[in-house]
This record gives sequence, structure tokens and C-alpha cells, in this order.
Amino acid sequence: MPDSAKKGHLVAVIGAGPAGLYAAQYLARKGVQVVLFNRDIRPGGLAEYGIFPDKHKVRQGLKAQFQRILRMPEVTYIGNVIVGQSGDIRLDQLRHAGFQAIMVTTGAQKNHWLGLPGEDLAGVYQANDIVFHYNHLPSCEKKSYNFGSQVAVIGAGNVMLDIVRYLKLKGNTGVVTAFARRGPTEVKFDKETLEPVAECLDMEAIRAEVEFVQPVTERIGRDVITFFPASGECPKQSFTV
Ligand SMILES: Cc1cc2nc3c(=O)[nH]c(=O)nc-3n(C[C@H](O)[C@H](O)[C@H](O)COP(=O)(O)OP(=O)(O)OC[C@H]3O[C@@H](n4cnc5c(N)ncnc54)[C@H](O)[C@@H]3O)c2cc1C
Repeated sequence: MPDSAKKGHLVAVIGAGPAGLYAAQYLARKGVQVVLFNRDIRPGGLAEYGIFPDKHKVRQGLKAQFQRILRMPEVTYIGNVIVGQSGDIRLDQLRHAGFQAIMVTTGAQKNHWLGLPGEDLAGVYQANDIVFHYNHLPSCEKKSYNFGSQVAVIGAGNVMLDIVRYLKLKGNTGVVTAFARRGPTEVKFDKETLEPVAECLDMEAIRAEVEFVQPVTERIGRDVITFFPASGECPKQSFTV
């Protein structure tokens, strides 16, 4: 227990992702002594292991903020520790150690499946596993994934594009098709994430899709044409966040 904690409040924060780190900062600013227990060796959670390696600006910006929090004298960081019934330390043990409050900020750890037949077949992967693999999370780094020559990615957000970018950089994947529940006006990625893969887009397929959904989107007042300029150029300037 840190010496200064004997005089004031001592709180255990479990999980050092963005939620845990900013909670620690908030408490530390109020003079509370905080010990952060984190399963991963490195702090940051998905901000460390979820963001594409080449997104240097985002990564460095977040890392600098996290380091400032971890340098606060009220904050102690302990990595590589799993808190839980079958982990390295249990909640009741933390209580006995003198923590007056325990904050659990362990993120969304469970993968969710769509409930589709065939999800358990070889070659069907969860995005998290792939993202952790290319971000060298120790538990996923050594696993191998066989993508074959045609890949379907389900979803239309930044993670989908990051995975497309990873496959492009790997170099031996033929066709990658993204399947989305909603239409082109509802994609959930930003322009910057699209840019590195824009040159690989099948513009004819996108044109056909836009023409197909246009009558419907017009009826609900959404201008799908802004997604795809009449000139037939790459649509990257038309995406909005
Ligand atoms: C694949 C993916 C990619 C993403 N990419 C981006 C992106 O590019 N940009 C962006 O802004 N957002 C991105 N997000 C969203 C963002 O990363 C999350 O919203 C954010 O990280 C959630 O913060 P959190 O602190 O709640 O949880 P997490 O970041 O998940 O952190 C949880 C922490 O708890 C620790 N932990 C878990 N269980 C235990 C335990 N039992 N004992 C001790 N510690 C434990 C973990 O080690 C981890 O450090 C992405 C999300 C995903 C799923």
C-alpha cells in the first residue's frame, strides 16, 4: 500500500484501458491514491491493442495522455495481473489489502457471434483476434490465421477497414468483400481510415450497389449520390464521419 494512502482514500481500478486510466486520473486529481491492476503488460487496453499500427497520430496522442496519468504520484500501475475468481488476485483479497473501493473497468471482453450457421467452421474469425494478432498482443501474436484467397468481412466500420488494410499489406489475399447490414449512407468509418484502401475499391461494384439502393434512400431523404460522385472518381471525399 502506498504510504500516503494511509492518510486518505485508496481505490483499486481493475483494467487500464481508457476507462480505467481516465477514472484513475479523475480520482488522483481529488487526492485519492489509486492502484491500477491490468491483465495486459502494457496499459491502454483496446487503445493499445485495437488501433491499427500505422495510425501513428492517434496512437502517439493517446499514449502521451496515458503516460501523463501514469506519472501522477497518486497512481501506481501493476500490469500482467488478472483480477477475478480464477485469476491472480480476487476481489475479497483486494478488500482485505485495504482498498476502500474497487472500480471494475475491464471493457467488453466477450466476443459476440451473430448466431449464423457455420460460425464454428475453420476460417471464421472474430475481428478482435485478428486485431490483437497484428497488434502483437502476446496471447494472440503467435496464432496463425488462414484467410485463403477470398475473404468476407462483416461490418462497415473502422475495424472492417483496418482489417481490409491488414489483408492488403499481407499481400496474398485476392478478393475482400465487406458485407454491411445498412446502406452506403450509414457506413461507420471515417475518411482517414478509408484512404489507405481506396485504391483497391471495386468502383463498378460500388456504383451498382449505389444505383440499387438509390430509390430507397431517396424516399427516406438520404442523398446517396453524395457518396458516389457522377464523375466515377473514388468516393473518399464524400464520406462523412
Ligand atoms: C477491435 C477494436 C478496434 C478498435 N479500434 C478503435 C480505434 O481505432 N479508435 C478508437 O477510438 N476506438 C477504437 N475502438 C474502441 C475503443 O478501443 C474502446 O471503446 C475502448 O478501448 C474501451 O475502453 P475500456 O477501458 O472500457 O476497455 P478496454 O480498452 O477493453 O480495456 C480493458 C482493460 O481491462 C483489462 N482487463 C480485462 N480483464 C481484466 C481482469 N480480469 N483483470 C485485470 N485487468 C483486466 C485489459 O487488459 C484492458 O487493459 C476499438 C474497439 C475494438 C473492439
